[in-house]
Amino acid sequence: MNIILLGAPGAGKGTQAVRLAARYKIPHISTGDIFRYNIKNQTPVGMLAKSYIDKGQLVPDEVTVRIVRERLEMDDCKNGYLLDGFPRTVEQAKALDGFSAIDAVVNVDVPLGKLMKRITGRRVCGKCGESHHVDYLGGKNVCAKCGGELIQRADDNEETVGKRLDVYVSQTAPLAAYYEKKGVLLTVDGDGEIEEVFERITERLDK
Ligand code: AMP
Repeated sequence: MNIILLGAPGAGKGTQAVRLAARYKIPHISTGDIFRYNIKNQTPVGMLAKSYIDKGQLVPDEVTVRIVRERLEMDDCKNGYLLDGFPRTVEQAKALDGFSAIDAVVNVDVPLGKLMKRITGRRVCGKCGESHHVDYLGGKNVCAKCGGELIQRADDNEETVGKRLDVYVSQTAPLAAYYEKKGVLLTVDGDGEIEEVFERITERLDK
């Protein structure tokens, strides 16, 4: 099954993607993670991506599409994949249509007003990648899953998040209509506990 997870920054795509990939035994492909890996390793793609990510802007379509196309050609994608954070523009969606067929697009829907608090309070485990929220950490900075140290993503500050949300509304939100027209859109209420949202998604996908 080839699946896209659509949703605003902070809607919980990454959290759900890890669990969905395990359930359906397909690779979880996050363009944000690919860019962060490249930034950490100071590759040319990483240097370029950083200049956009730091400003809350999208990395140019041409670069992003190439990375995804090459990733989807890998052997582990033969039985399906889960895309998290791609496509983010109609241009990217059109490019993807040219090299892969999508079975389902899950739109994780969270009221825009809740996203700023969700993202600025987010702390990510440097070891296993699990996302947490300061409200549930009781002052500790340790991952409940693996004991790793938690960090705040450089682009999770209020100013950059504001720009990312604007970019989402103007460039990514129109993708829901794009996939609705194709008859593959499944909109799921993303407001709730992680397990609850996971159940809602799998119920729709299992059908
Ligand atoms: P994420 O981890 O999905 O929140 O992505 C972090 C940042 O990486 C975004 O704010 C963008 O700057 C960049 N990025 C991730 N995916 C894409 C994409 N599909 N197109 C353009 N930029 C992207």
